[in-house]
Amino acid sequence: MKMQHTIKDTIGFSGIGLHTGCDVNVRLIPSGEDTGITFLRKDIPGSPAIRAVASNVVATSYATTIGAKGVTVSTIEHLMAALYGLGVDNAVVELDGPEVPVMDGSASHFIEAIEGVGLRAQASPRRHLVIKRPIKVEDRDKYVLFLPSEEAEFTIDYSIDFSHPMLNKQTFTGLFSTDVFKEEIAGARTFGFLRDIETLKANGLAKGGSLNNAIVIGDSDILNEDGLRYPDEFVRHKVLDLMGDISLIGAPVIGHLIAHRSGHSLNHRLVQEILRKPARWDFTDTFAEEKDVALKSTIFMDGSVPV
Ligand SMILES: [Zn+2]
Repeated sequence: MKMQHTIKDTIGFSGIGLHTGCDVNVRLIPSGEDTGITFLRKDIPGSPAIRAVASNVVATSYATTIGAKGVTVSTIEHLMAALYGLGVDNAVVELDGPEVPVMDGSASHFIEAIEGVGLRAQASPRRHLVIKRPIKVEDRDKYVLFLPSEEAEFTIDYSIDFSHPMLNKQTFTGLFSTDVFKEEIAGARTFGFLRDIETLKANGLAKGGSLNNAIVIGDSDILNEDGLRYPDEFVRHKVLDLMGDISLIGAPVIGHLIAHRSGHSLNHRLVQEILRKPARWDFTDTFAEEKDVALKSTIFMDGSVPV
């Protein structure tokens, strides 16, 4: 039986928020079993808590933002992907600002920091959500489809197709394991088009963005002097974003995920659709009669109920 894990010790890091431009200090703190990932805004009186679950998602344009009672934390996806990819089930993320620091635009720093202290196994079993019947969401030619996995694993087929010569077609196909995540996905950086940056900034976004934390794509080349970390770094980063968004289900997933030109909004709609349709999946290590209890206690701990 696989057990739940938290981190062995508290970790601290600091950096700038990609969209807000705020300098933010973060502490990752071990937490008890069945508590999930919870963000705490230490800069606000009473340190309000926001649990990282899909029902707390309040915005999905350019980044994933969670919020509760008017307090938000934005750009959680790369840190959430790191926690999910390394198998951290329970932790508190304490921060003194409104956005998770972007670091180098990838999840590398989070991975190094978490691996620096290591993980601690906990007393409760880890419960996986197993897709039993297809679930799909789409938006014109964009879609995300979750199918049952014949091998009882989490596998991904992700394709992008931007109207730009640098990244008109890229695909990522493979098993999503901790090793694959660390070696193939975690180091891929966020990216943006030079042509969009002025518009983003005019809309109050990308205030902290620079060549130190994003790949900037010009008309026919990238502006970063050191080039790309992988020839297909763009699709790998989209997989990283997807993992962060999928983690908001609140349990690791087993299934075959096929995504085409997806983004935070569609990823979030997929998670909502999964949670709305419990007849299409099951929990491992859980008897059928426990499923309702598990649904309410684990995934909907914030009090909301599946429709
Ligand atoms: Zn991203």
